[in-house]
Amino acid sequence: QTHFLSSLQTKMSRPVQTRRLEGTDKNIWVEFVKLAATYSKVNLGQGFPDFPPPDFLKEAFVKALSEENHMLHQYTRAFGHPPLVKILAQFFGKLLGQELDPMTNVMVTVGAYQALFCCFQAFIEEGDEVIIIEPFFDCYEPMTKMAGGTPVFVPLRPKASKDGKLMSSEDWQLDPAELASKFNERTKAIVLNSPNNPLGKVFSQGELELIADLCVKHDVLCISDEVYEWLVYDGKKHIRIASLPGMWDRTVTIGSAGKTFSATGWKVGWTVGPNRLLQHIRTMHQNSVYHCATVAQEAVAQGFQRELELYGKADSYFVQLPKELQQKRDLLVQSLDAVGMKPIIPEGTYFLVADISKFKSDVPDVPDSDEPYDSRFAKWMVKNKGLAAIPLSAFYSGDNKKKYNHFIRFCFAKEEATLKAANDILQKWKQEKTSP
Ligand code: PMP
Repeated sequence: QTHFLSSLQTKMSRPVQTRRLEGTDKNIWVEFVKLAATYSKVNLGQGFPDFPPPDFLKEAFVKALSEENHMLHQYTRAFGHPPLVKILAQFFGKLLGQELDPMTNVMVTVGAYQALFCCFQAFIEEGDEVIIIEPFFDCYEPMTKMAGGTPVFVPLRPKASKDGKLMSSEDWQLDPAELASKFNERTKAIVLNSPNNPLGKVFSQGELELIADLCVKHDVLCISDEVYEWLVYDGKKHIRIASLPGMWDRTVTIGSAGKTFSATGWKVGWTVGPNRLLQHIRTMHQNSVYHCATVAQEAVAQGFQRELELYGKADSYFVQLPKELQQKRDLLVQSLDAVGMKPIIPEGTYFLVADISKFKSDVPDVPDSDEPYDSRFAKWMVKNKGLAAIPLSAFYSGDNKKKYNHFIRFCFAKEEATLKAANDILQKWKQEKTSP
C-alpha cells in the first residue's frame, strides 16, 4: 500500500519535450478561436463558411454512409480512396495540361494541413533554407522549423493607392531584386500561396514567372498551397505554377476539399505532383497518418465527378461559389469603408484585410509591450464589441510583426445575416465614436 502511494507521488523529473518543438508551442488559432467562442456575437475570425456545403455534396456523403456497400466504413487505400485519386487525376490533369497517374501523381491527405506537414517533413532537413513570402499562412514557419529548416522571409511590399482609392491586394508586390537575393545554395524550397491567405492576393503570370525562373535557376522545390484556387474575383484567373515551364518536376500542388466545397470540417486534402516527389510524401504519410476517412473521400470523389461534368458551366459550384463570395466581399468592403476601417480589396480567397489606424484612439497602444498593436486591438474588439477578427501580425515573423501591426483580417464566407450583423456593430461603434 505505502509503496503504491509513494509511486503515485513520485513525479517524473526528466525533461520530456523534444528539441524540435522548441519555440513552436504558441498558436494564434488556439488563442483566437477560444476568444471568439467566449466573447463573439459575430465571428469573422477563423476561415470557415457559416453556410452549408452544396446539397449535392451532402447528399453524396449521406449516400456513401447509408449505401449497401458497407465497405465504405472500412479502411481504403492508404494513399487515397481509388475513386477520389482517379477523379482528381482526371480533373487536375485537365487543368495542368498533363496526363496524371492516379496512383503515383496524386495523394489524399487529412486536409491541406497534413499535405503541408508531409512536404516539410519529406523535403526539409537541418541546414536547409525555405523561402516564405510574408504575410503567410502561419503554419509554414513552425513546420519549417520542426523539420530542422530555417525560414527565410521575403515581404510583399504595399504600394500606396492613388487618388484616395481603396487599396487592392494587387498593390502588395514582391521586389524582384529582394526575392532573388534570398535564393542561395542552401535554399531547398519556396512556399507559394496563391490566392494568398491573408491578403487575398492572386499572383499574376509575371510574378509566377519570376518565382519559377528563380526556382529553375537555383534548382529549388516549390510547395504550392492552392487551397483557394476557385475563389478568385473580378474575372481574375488563378494560374497554377506547376504549369509553367520547368516547374512540374519541382512542384507539389496542394488542395483542400474543405475550401473547394465549403466543408472545412471534413478535412480532406490532396497533393498533386511528379512521382519523384510524391513517393517521399507517401513515405511520410504511411509512417504517420496512414489513412484518411473513407466516407468523406467517397463523397468528395462524387463532388468532383459532378464538377468535371459541369466544368465551366453556369451550374458548376466552382463558378457559383466565387460569384456568391464576390457579393459578400463587396458587402463587407462597403461596411468597412463606411466606418473608415479601410479595406484592402482582395482579388481572391474569402479573407479581407482592413486598416485599423483610424480606430487607434479607442484602444491605446502600449509602446513597450511585446504584443503587436493589432493583436491587442483584435482582443479588445471581440471583448468589447463582440466582433471577432484575426490580427495581421499573426501572419508575419520576427520584427515584421511590429511593423505590420495596424491591420486585421476578416473572413467573409458568411451568411448575409452574419455580414449585416457585423455591419450593425461597426455602424454603432462609429456613432459612439463621433457622438460626444
Ligand atoms: N493552407 C491555407 C493557406 C489555409 O488557409 C488553410 C486553412 N485555413 C489550409 C492550408 C489548411 O486547409 P485544410 O483545412 O484543408 O487542412
